[in-house]
Amino acid sequence: MSFSSLGLSEQLVRATTDQGYETPSPIQQQAIPAVLSGKDVMAAAQTGTGKTAGFTLPLLQRLAANPRSGKGPRALILAPTRELAAQVHDSVALYSKYMPTKSAVVFGGVKINPQMMKLRKGLDVLVATPGRLMDLYQQNAVRFNEVEVLVLDEADRMLDMGFIRDIRKILALLPAKRQNLLFSATFSNDIRSLAQGLLNDPVQVEVAARNTTAEKVKQSVYPVDQSQKTALLSKLVRDNAWEQVLVFTRTKHGANRLTKKLEQDGITAAAIHGNKSQGARTRALSEFKQGDVRVLVATDIAARGLDIKQLPQVVNFELPNVPEDYVHRIGRTGRAGESGHALSLVSADEGKLLAGIEKLIKKQLPRREVEGFEPKNNLPLKPKAKADPAKARSRNGRGGANGKPAGDGRSFGGRPGGGNNGRGRSGGQRGRSAQRQSA
Ligand code: AMP
Repeated sequence: MSFSSLGLSEQLVRATTDQGYETPSPIQQQAIPAVLSGKDVMAAAQTGTGKTAGFTLPLLQRLAANPRSGKGPRALILAPTRELAAQVHDSVALYSKYMPTKSAVVFGGVKINPQMMKLRKGLDVLVATPGRLMDLYQQNAVRFNEVEVLVLDEADRMLDMGFIRDIRKILALLPAKRQNLLFSATFSNDIRSLAQGLLNDPVQVEVAARNTTAEKVKQSVYPVDQSQKTALLSKLVRDNAWEQVLVFTRTKHGANRLTKKLEQDGITAAAIHGNKSQGARTRALSEFKQGDVRVLVATDIAARGLDIKQLPQVVNFELPNVPEDYVHRIGRTGRAGESGHALSLVSADEGKLLAGIEKLIKKQLPRREVEGFEPKNNLPLKPKAKADPAKARSRNGRGGANGKPAGDGRSFGGRPGGGNNGRGRSGGQRGRSAQRQSA
């Protein structure tokens, strides 16, 4: 299987070769022909699967096959965060480097005027966060009457972040006849209802079972008291000689505090979250990528869409409020076929969050205690899966102790058998608003 055998043009194939891609990833194998056929697509894909190229390559080819002379944009890609939007735009620019295609990215948190100037010049592909795009529309800086293709990237996250109203407003302004592509890591009922109103007889593309975590990622839980978490993290970084670790905290404040403590401990660290300016975030990320900073501490929303190649290690310093975010977080490691390790430092007060995650991913995560860090408060984490697997299984109400998903929920239609959606959702609503404030 090669990119050219999927029907991509020589210019696009050359651009993928320049990137060092040898074969299309599974999502690309499915999505590229589907998008090329002009049909709507609904894809379940996490970050790290190669989904961006999965929709960008065929989209570029379709635009090139039918050149127009208007001001555009002809393709509109909506993404939840500035980081993801910037990254998707980088991909568009890379993949279209041998084509005359013009593209731009717009997002909030930076001056609007330069973005208005860019739009005035005309372009083919526009990558945008929904809020800023609506601002630009209201200021007459962009029109949607030439849009032929709409992509919603990480649609679940856009809903989590409260963009549904902007998205609906934008949808209402688009020409009725267009191709729609929806990508989402998880499929809640909200996403399904959005998809139902948006997509017309979509091709469904799925590479991993819904809400299951990447198989290549080794996951474990370290039971530890809250007060000992920082010391344990320092020890793990040192003992394992980790040179590049992404650490998740629940709040911005927590991210700052942890960064400071690690620095005091002699471990280089930087924080990335919503209170930081775009410049500070970009700087932290590039220092981390270059290896000048060993630990990058991030909140969920800030980390969304970070493209860090072959990140071997992710640590959940605190579990996320929303179980789906666990799946997103660990999607940061083991990317593009590499194996990775995700470990979670879990204190007794997070027992419920852990149970919610294990229910969602249909796996019992192995517990590992570290000598000297055994928790005093360990109630919800015992008994350990190893010591008494039968008990652990019945306690969690499923047969996931062997580390394999139970195997339902592979199709988009219908609800999975486990019935966790209801519970996950109500827990999620609460968690999401809490998280929006904090990240
Ligand atoms: P994405 O899921 O789109 O965020 O892509 C994850 C990473 O995989 C990015 O760093 C891409 O550059 C890389 N990638 C995408 N497609 C391929 C491919 N076919 N072979 C190798 N790497 C790829």
